[in-house]
Amino acid sequence: KIRLDNVVKTFDTFRAVHGVSLDIASGELVALLGPSGSGKTTILRMVAGLEFADGGQIYFGDQDATEIPVRERGVGFVFQHYALFPHMTVAENIAFGMTTARAVKRSREEIDARVKELLGLVRLEGLGGRFPGQISGGQRQRVALARALTVDPKVLLLDEPFGALDAKVRRDLRRWLREIHDQLGITTLFVTHDQEEALDLADRVVILNEGKIVQAASPSEICRNPGSAFVMRFLGDTN
Ligand code: ATP
Repeated sequence: KIRLDNVVKTFDTFRAVHGVSLDIASGELVALLGPSGSGKTTILRMVAGLEFADGGQIYFGDQDATEIPVRERGVGFVFQHYALFPHMTVAENIAFGMTTARAVKRSREEIDARVKELLGLVRLEGLGGRFPGQISGGQRQRVALARALTVDPKVLLLDEPFGALDAKVRRDLRRWLREIHDQLGITTLFVTHDQEEALDLADRVVILNEGKIVQAASPSEICRNPGSAFVMRFLGDTN
């Protein structure tokens, strides 16, 4: 369970996040939805520990997140352009996270077995020997997710993971991500500016504007009952 309590983030004099409070239940898939500059990525980076709040608090369970070192938070990331290493195969890219000095020591056999398992999970069996340049953009994002899962994260943070892909691929990946999420039950925060993606994918959608939450509710509740003129306008936009 993650809790944001009145979180504020200011860059120089610009307030990017204005007192955001949000409870994310264990296993929940929450979409942060909002226009460019609404503070979505900044919130994600604070949850990850890559950025510090200058007001309010973030809790992981009962623990103040600032007391938990980044690599002990158990978070896995996928970004829109989370570049895979081009000179490494798909399997080597996935294995990379398990071979760094910080990772729990595993034998070569254990690593190979885990890579195989993850390739199966993201349905890329048989592609482990390819290089990133030899697979599609959608497949690359599946590899990025497999790599994020090597640390057995408790929390997954996805920042516009499908942003660079075309509409059909995005729809397929959405369904696929939902299945993976339901299978693993990892608490997931998903950033997007695409309302259709958020409403289709998430258990709960948190709509942001200018660093503030304007509505947080289930997709059906938001569609039935948009909380403000901004939400109505934003949902009506087809971008
Ligand atoms: P996008 O969809 O374009 O990524 P976003 O909703 O994720 O937008 P953020 O990236 O969180 O928005 O940015 C929120 C605001 O904070 C923006 O106006 C941005 O310019 C500003 N900002 C973000 N990071 C920094 C930084 N390191 N220094 C200064 N300003 C920043």
